[in-house]
Amino acid sequence: MASHTSINFENTKIAFAYKSDFELTRDYRIFQLINQNWLVKFGTSTAMQMMQYGIKTPVALGMRPTVYATFCGGESLADSTKKIDKLYTYNVQSILDYGVEGKESEADFKRTEAAIRQAILFAKDHAAVNIVCSKFTGLIPFSILEKLHKNEPLETTENKIYITAKQRIFDLAQLAYDNNVSLFVDAEESWIQQPLDDLCYELMLKFNKEKPIIYNTTQLYRKDRLAFLKNAIKQAQKDGIIYAVKLVRGAYMEKENQRAKQLLYESPIQENKNATDNAYNEALRFTINNINNTAICVATHNEESSLLATQLMAELNLPNHHPHIQFSQLFGMSDNISFNLAQAGYSTHKYLPYGPVKDVIPYLIRRAQENTSVSGQMSRELKLLKTEVKRRKLMLWF
Ligand SMILES: Cc1cc2nc3c(=O)[nH]c(=O)nc-3n(C[C@H](O)[C@H](O)[C@H](O)COP(=O)(O)OP(=O)(O)OC[C@H]3O[C@@H](n4cnc5c(N)ncnc54)[C@H](O)[C@@H]3O)c2cc1C
Repeated sequence: MASHTSINFENTKIAFAYKSDFELTRDYRIFQLINQNWLVKFGTSTAMQMMQYGIKTPVALGMRPTVYATFCGGESLADSTKKIDKLYTYNVQSILDYGVEGKESEADFKRTEAAIRQAILFAKDHAAVNIVCSKFTGLIPFSILEKLHKNEPLETTENKIYITAKQRIFDLAQLAYDNNVSLFVDAEESWIQQPLDDLCYELMLKFNKEKPIIYNTTQLYRKDRLAFLKNAIKQAQKDGIIYAVKLVRGAYMEKENQRAKQLLYESPIQENKNATDNAYNEALRFTINNINNTAICVATHNEESSLLATQLMAELNLPNHHPHIQFSQLFGMSDNISFNLAQAGYSTHKYLPYGPVKDVIPYLIRRAQENTSVSGQMSRELKLLKTEVKRRKLMLWF
């Protein structure tokens, strides 16, 4: 039986109940700062230049009590446990995201593998976690993925590296399967996506026979992805497996457009935001209509799409806590969506990055850029935080 309730994303009391007064005012100040376009531009370009010259420590020191505290779990899993447990008291689970990016050496790949392994074992012992996220570029060299995407043959040494990486990924998937933990695979640049799609499907054929273990990611800001998704689901139906997918709009739009312009090919990105929104919502319709052999994570900060997913579920009389439908937002963002959905009984998660501060700086820069003001207006996050600061009648001393 469905138990659909109409959701009110404006309820800031529910949205921020898990934040102490100190955390709320700190986050309000942080979002006030990153709402300043000039400050984010200056701050991020300075941070990136310092990183290029290997000067990471001062950047990390500045970020640790500020943006890092707002957007990350902690330096390690043990460090993040307090936040994970706190979220879970409000029925919000955590998706563990070892946030270290852009590594290329064998030692780095081994470290990433060990971190994902540790996260899966952590999830096995903690009801607050049943999903671990991974970026395959943390396990396979980018250059090899680029070659595979273009269907170019690999050199003998590259082939050896790829076989080792693939074995590691299958071992991690087996561990996830054995412990009933789902493994999300993030989508990154379009020019490495084909081998990631192939690998994910191969993994699904092995591990997604009875339950959704391996989730690929579909970026609906790409013009070709809706058709790709529909075909993949049809193929999965024929193969008798559950096609599990995280639905996102996509995070690399500027990079994609710039590369297309530089290399003189047609940009893979939709013509405008409206087209991306339509594709996203159509992906929701298609997957929810095929929910018996599809599993989705509605990974968005868009209120309209989140609401649409709940409405589509209600129309089909699906229970709010459906085992094939998860909702997810990034930690530190859109608490109004996450906590109001969780309160209404939907399976809700926060993407929780963790890792050494200096290693998650690129992630933090993206969050700052995403939350800056577009045209001098207050961002949605800032407005919500302000409403709650006022509702709690908090004094702002600084
Ligand atoms: C849990 C979670 C996991 C994620 N995992 C991934 C991942 O694996 N890979 C990844 O790439 N991203 C990922 N993202 C980020 C996501 O892709 C979006 O960048 C981000 O969530 C903003 O989109 P939105 O759906 O929240 O909605 P909105 O804020 O409504 O939409 C913003 C998005 O719309 C699109 N857009 C904006 N302007 C235009 C335009 N002019 N033309 C076309 N499209 C436009 C862009 O994708 C932009 O990010 C994830 C997000 C979440 C919450």
